[in-house]
Amino acid sequence: MRYISTRNKNDIATFSEAIVRGLSKDGGLYVPETFPQVSQDEMNEMLSMNYDERANLILSKFMPDFTMEEIAECTAKAYDKFDGETAPVVKMDEGLYLLELFHGPTIAFKDMALALFPHVLSKAKKKVGINEEIVILVATSGDTGKAALEGFKDADGIKILVFYPTGGVSNMQKLQMSTADGKNVGVASIKGNFDDAQTGVKEIFENSELKEMMKEKGYIFSSANSINLGRLLPQVVYYFSAYLDLVGSNEIEMGDEVNFTIPTGNFGNILAGYYAKQMGLNIKKLVCASNQNNVLTDFFSSGKYDAKRKFYKTISPSMDILVSSNLERLLFEISGRDDKLTFERMKDLKSKGDYTISKEEMDKISGLFYASFSSEEDTEVTISQFYDEYGYALDPHTAVGVYVSDTYCATKNDYDPMIILSTASPFKFNDYVLKALRAKVTDDPFKNAKTLKNMSAMDIPEAISELQTKEVRFNKIYEKEELVKALNDFLDGKLEIDEEV
Ligand SMILES: *Cc1c(COP(=O)(O)O)cnc(C)c1O
Repeated sequence: MRYISTRNKNDIATFSEAIVRGLSKDGGLYVPETFPQVSQDEMNEMLSMNYDERANLILSKFMPDFTMEEIAECTAKAYDKFDGETAPVVKMDEGLYLLELFHGPTIAFKDMALALFPHVLSKAKKKVGINEEIVILVATSGDTGKAALEGFKDADGIKILVFYPTGGVSNMQKLQMSTADGKNVGVASIKGNFDDAQTGVKEIFENSELKEMMKEKGYIFSSANSINLGRLLPQVVYYFSAYLDLVGSNEIEMGDEVNFTIPTGNFGNILAGYYAKQMGLNIKKLVCASNQNNVLTDFFSSGKYDAKRKFYKTISPSMDILVSSNLERLLFEISGRDDKLTFERMKDLKSKGDYTISKEEMDKISGLFYASFSSEEDTEVTISQFYDEYGYALDPHTAVGVYVSDTYCATKNDYDPMIILSTASPFKFNDYVLKALRAKVTDDPFKNAKTLKNMSAMDIPEAISELQTKEVRFNKIYEKEELVKALNDFLDGKLEIDEEV
């Protein structure tokens, strides 16, 4: 099992090389040379396994340069931190299930990969012979920062520094980041907006003089982007695990076809479902659910990907995306793995903001994918109707999934088992959820959490309740031109608040 670039098939890497590099030299994304298969015997074997064991079996197919013990060590470290079951399937109705992916330390689905990736990266770094310490730099508009801080906390041979825009994150998100634990983490607030933070980080990555200086001190830079293979592959596991759970509870029989609906932004989560299908899982449809930023809905219906459009800020902010980076991996597959064509299309997207696929390629994807979107109003109504019907509070991202899943079932008259991926806890976006439920919303996020607890009969996740008593460790604010100063302060151990202050 080796990996090739979507833009140059001659760029070949081992698993460890691919995740240490992140992107290939030509800017392409690494994909497996062939899709490993999961046999019927393995499916039967996995029935009685827990989540970690299923993850070990599936991931071992992608990671030949890791021993089974090494993989098991990583999954244990990652998923021990989860609250209760790692990825439980909750039955809502006959043939309707929610796959809850929010039981990790930051109560959103990015934990599924970000809890695991840092441990794998630590080992991969040793395997490819990098002796320097890796410094992960992250610019965040909120959610990814905290998930990355949690994931990389105390990872071997890696430090992480997160930059966030001072006024650009919610009070809860700010509290989550400024109280982060771990010897190897740092958080700096930047006067400016998210783009200023992101531009600053890019400038650091492109500053060869700085990189040279850092290398002498024993550091190299890297990122924890969602297009890194190490973020994608752990997501394949829960598609298998959900299917096996339904077989185990006699909801379906082994071999039955199922549908999945995925609330989609960067196309990472749903692409993992496509990979699971390629590996032999009996998936009939992958329903791609978008919010008002419905560029993917238009792409799947017209064959034209057109990023030149208005950007909407919605109540499902983690899906507010106009360029879905991971779609490149699907384009590569449906073009018959044509690296030149994929390269051209990505060049078009960058230079003129669009590209179009062929009729033949459209036929290939329309069999497996269905795409639609939910307006802001439909999302709110869905939260409230679902609550009335099942007493279950959906987060807004999951509500987009539920609405589009309903649209799919009704228009295609397909009532085969449907598993909707629930990508965040409602507590993470409690103000939006309470508003949709017409409950009282205050400025105090902890009070809102209590209201939601009473309404939903769900416990307040520790990720939120613990913040009430945690000490703030990081409160330094930098000018947007001062990211390098923040970096040096971090590496010199001067970013943290002094003990006596
Ligand atoms: C990131 C995110 C998504 C979108 O997932 P992609 O892999 O980017 O498609 C959906 N919901 C939540 C809560 C997220 O954080």
